[in-house]
This record gives sequence, C-alpha cells and structure tokens, in this order.
Amino acid sequence: MLSLVFLIAGGIQFSGYRWLHTIYLMLLIPSAVFFPPGIVIPLGFTVPFLEIRHFIETDNISEELSLNLAVILSVVVVSLFVNALNKKKDILESQLVSLRKNAAEVAHAPEVDLGDDAVMSQYLSSMSMADEEIKEILLTIKYSMLADSVNLFTPYNDDLKLRSSTEDSQNIIPSGKGLIMLCFKEKRTIISSNVSEKGYEVGYLKRGEIASFIALPVIDGSFMLGVLTCDTSRFSAFGDADANTLKLFSKQIIRIFHRERVYPQIQRSHAGLRVLHEESSKLASSLKIEVLAQRIIGSGYRIAPSSIIFLLKKGDIFEVVQHTGNLQVEKRAIALSGTLLDMAGKNMEPLYLSDVRNYSLPLMPFRTKDVSSVLILPLMYEKEFIGMLVFLSEKIGAFNPHQIELLEVLGTQASISIANARLHAKIERMATTDGLTGLYNHRHFHERLSGEIRRLDRFPEPLSLMLMDIDYFKKVNDTYGHPAGDKILHGVAGILKAALRSIDVPARYGGEEFAAILPGTDSKGAKNIAERLRKTVMDHPFSVDGKTVKVTVSIGISTASISSKNKEELIERADQALYHAKKNGRNRSVIWDEIKG
Ligand code: GH3
Ligand code: MG
Ligand code: MG
Repeated sequence: MLSLVFLIAGGIQFSGYRWLHTIYLMLLIPSAVFFPPGIVIPLGFTVPFLEIRHFIETDNISEELSLNLAVILSVVVVSLFVNALNKKKDILESQLVSLRKNAAEVAHAPEVDLGDDAVMSQYLSSMSMADEEIKEILLTIKYSMLADSVNLFTPYNDDLKLRSSTEDSQNIIPSGKGLIMLCFKEKRTIISSNVSEKGYEVGYLKRGEIASFIALPVIDGSFMLGVLTCDTSRFSAFGDADANTLKLFSKQIIRIFHRERVYPQIQRSHAGLRVLHEESSKLASSLKIEVLAQRIIGSGYRIAPSSIIFLLKKGDIFEVVQHTGNLQVEKRAIALSGTLLDMAGKNMEPLYLSDVRNYSLPLMPFRTKDVSSVLILPLMYEKEFIGMLVFLSEKIGAFNPHQIELLEVLGTQASISIANARLHAKIERMATTDGLTGLYNHRHFHERLSGEIRRLDRFPEPLSLMLMDIDYFKKVNDTYGHPAGDKILHGVAGILKAALRSIDVPARYGGEEFAAILPGTDSKGAKNIAERLRKTVMDHPFSVDGKTVKVTVSIGISTASISSKNKEELIERADQALYHAKKNGRNRSVIWDEIKG
C-alpha cells in the first residue's frame, strides 16, 4: 500500500499536474473502510511529506498548504465516521447474537416433570409470559431485518389492535384501514418498496417516515391470528427473502398464541386436580360413613358451590345422610320412585340438567322450589348402586363441563371410600360378634368391660355386670339334639338383647353362658333387669321339631363402685353370685352383695 502511495506521489510530482492530488483521496478513503483510524489517519499525514518537492518549488505556498490540509481533513473525517458506523454495527450484532442464543435456549428448554407441584407452578408462570416473549421476537426481527419498527396487530371486533411493538405502544396508532387491513382481510403478504410514492397508507400512524413496508398475515391453519408488520425509512428495503424470514418468526408467535389459549385450561385443570387430590386423600382417611358424607359434601362444595344432598341406598329407599344449603329435607329416609333422581339412579349414569323446570317429572319426592340446575351422580361400586350425590343450584346452567368432570371423579372416589367404610364395618362386626347368637363375642366383652371400668374414673356412676347360665342345658342337648340346643341358645340370646337398653353390652361369654355390661346401673336396677329377663326366658316356649321346650336361667350380679372397680374382681363376684344361684335351686338371680357375708 505504502509503495503504491510512493509510486503515485512520484507520478504526481513528475507530471506536475496539481489536480492529480485527488488521487490521494481515492486511495485513502476506501482504506478507511478496511483499516482503523490508527492506520489511516497517520497515512493521511504522510501526504505533505510526499509533496515536499511541490512545497519547495511552489510560488503559491498557501494554495499548496490548503490543498494538502483538505486531503488530510477529508481522510480524518471519513476514517472517524466509518469507525463510528462499525462500532454501532458491532453493538447491533452482539445484541442479535444474544437474542438468537436466548431464542435457541427457549426452543430447547428441558421438558417439565408434571408430577412435581413446584415445577408445575413454575411452568405455568413461565407460560404466562407470552407478552415478553412476543416482544423479544419482534426485537429479533427488528435487528435481523434492519427495520425501524416491527409490530404485531391482532383482531379486535372487526378491527385490528396493536398487540405488541418494538416501539412504545402509544407511538403506534392503528387507523383501521390501509395495507394492514388489506393483508388481514385477504390473508396475503404485502410488500411495498416505496409507500409514499404510490400513495399507500400502511394502516397505522407512527413517528418518523415509512418508505418500505411489509405486512405478513399470522395464520394458524385457516384461522387469522393477526398481522405482523415491518417498516423502515429506507427505500426498497424488503423483498421475498424478508417475507420468508418473517414467516418463520410468525410461526414462533403462533406457538405462543396457541400456548396462551391452552394456558387457562391447563391452569384450571391443574387447580381442579389439586383440589381433587387434596379431597380424595381426605376421603381415604376416614372409615365412618357420617364423617365421609360430610367430607364428600365439603369437597363437592369446593369444586362447585351449591346445595348438596348425599343419599345412601338402603334397600328400596334412600337415606339422607347429609345435606347442605337451605333446602328443606325433612325425612331421613325417602322413596324416590317417579322422580328424576330415580331415573338417574336406574340409568346408573350422571345426569346434568341445566334447568330442571323444563321437565315434567319432579326432581325429588318433596318440593324443591327455586332449583334450576341439577347434577345427579349415582354412586356405583363394582356395578352395585350404593347411593347418590346431588348438586342443586338456583342458577340456570350453574355447572360447567370442567366442574362436572371433577365432580364425577369425586363421585367415583366417594363410592370407593363408602365401599371401603362398609367393608371395614363388616369386618369389624365379624371380628366382634359371635356367629351363633349375634351377640358380642368374649374378646369384645372384655375390651368393653375394660373400657367401662376406665370410664368410671371420669364419670363415677354405678356399673353392673350380669352373668347368666342356662340351667341343665346338657340335658336339653341330650334330649333334643345339639341343633335344637343351638336354636334355643339363639332364642335366649334374642331375649337377652331385647331386655337390655342400647347402651348395655350383651355378649356370649361361653358355651351357654351369657354376660351383660350394664353402665349407669346399680345392683338394684340390675336385679330388676335380671328378674324380668329370668321370667321372660322361663315363660318363653321354644319350638323344636314341632315340640315346645322351655328352659330357665340362673343369673349372678356384681356391681362396681368407686371403692371397688377392678375388672377381674367384678367378674369373679358375678361368677360367685351365679354359682350361689345354681347351688340354691337355679332359675333365680343373685346379687353378690347379698351373699358376701
Ligand atoms: P347347669 O349349668 O345348670 O349346672 O347345668 P348344665 O347342663 O348347663 O351344665 P354345664 O354348664 O356343665 O353344661 C353346659 C352344656 O352346654 C355343655 C354343652 O354340651 C352345652 N353347650 C355348650 N356350648 C354349646 C353350643 O354352642 N351349642 C349347644 N347345642 N350346646 C352347647
Ligand atoms: Mg348350664
Ligand atoms: Mg355353663
């Protein structure tokens, strides 16, 4: 380069033509594009030295001086200007690189484990950042297409409104007509290289001039989602390649729109599933039908606030286990025939009526005024119809499909929980009752007696125990056979049960021995019960194989008090009294207190 300059300098000096000085400019100015000012400017300053011969020989030194100064000045200005431009370009390029990197990171974001609640909520909140993501895409378009502004318009009634822009949104004002409306209505890309010359109107007002313009329809299938525009003050700035680039970016925007549409659905289902999860774990934690019913209703109310009735099937009738709301449900047991509830139950399918007043069948066997919406969920367990969950609302169309779906799942959960509770109750009954007589068994008797004795600490009141033995039962067996003996045992158990109150605990103590715990009963009260019982058994004709058999019983009674409340002692004393009754002729009842002397 330097040798080229020397060559030119020699040529200029040899020829003597002063105007050839401009050749220096032709050489130095292009070099400013490729070399930094640190090289180009010192090179400019060599010009006067190369021209030293002219300085010595000239008559007009000021003319020579100004010519050289003009060359140096031009070189300095051009070099600094080009340098400033390059710096700006570098900044833009680095921004573009970082934007592309971000876009790539978003595209390759790791998949989310939906099982984890925390991750899920993070995922949901990231989904709600659509606006920021769209803005980032518009900025990327702006830098990569060297546009002045990039805007996204979306449909609003019959018009387009600005959804996002690289500018301040108040600086872009849609006019409701122009090229963007044309693009929107005809679903086609519009490119204009000289907007003002052809008298077009782009369709929005903005600060600054628009020379070139491109509008691209954002289409999902055949569905118009919006219009994407790019504008610049440069003429003929955009071509088909830009339209294709813009189309690629529009696909990213379509994906965000799609996600935005499903976001509320996912969020809603997630919230619903969380409620279901919480509620079903509550259901699993109880085995008592009443508690379960209360929880099921509470859970249902959380999903769909309404009046709720929980019915359990008991043979042909239904028992109202629980209900909420201001509905007047008086009867605890109701027959449903000829009602909508009956129909849903028979169909064994959920029934949703958005306005029950449109039907001629009554909803229930009693008046249900002001009820419009009804959701009836028959509760089924292994094809067995076990009950119904009924949701009522005064509003027409009160329950949306999402709520109905969740309530149906709740209904299934409720059925399983009720079946579980029933099974548990059955097992418990089997474990505590005696198979032949239906009374409590020996083990349960001991548990209950221990419990009652413990209770005396908190509630000091009398507690009596009765032991009853059938007289000469061996003879009954010998005469009529063992099966007949069993039948009589069963009959005596029935008489015992009938003679007692619900708080008393009748049990089969042994072979043909019975026991009864009588809480809150003193020895006098126990004696009364025992005598009534003894007489009833004595008078009762048991029919065995067409014959009438009568038996008698002997009864021993003991009573616990604050001073004497030992379980073994209580049993021992009742046994002693029973022995006493046997020894003194049988068919009698004896109180331990009477024989203790
Ligand atoms: P008492 O009590 O008056 O002294 O005379 P008893 O004949 O009842 O004498 P004991 O208590 O010794 O005999 C009880 C009999 O009860 C013996 C047994 O065969 C009969 N027994 C015990 N358990 C059953 C049962 O489950 N079914 C039948 N059929 N008989 C039973
Ligand atoms: Mg006996
Ligand atoms: Mg006996």
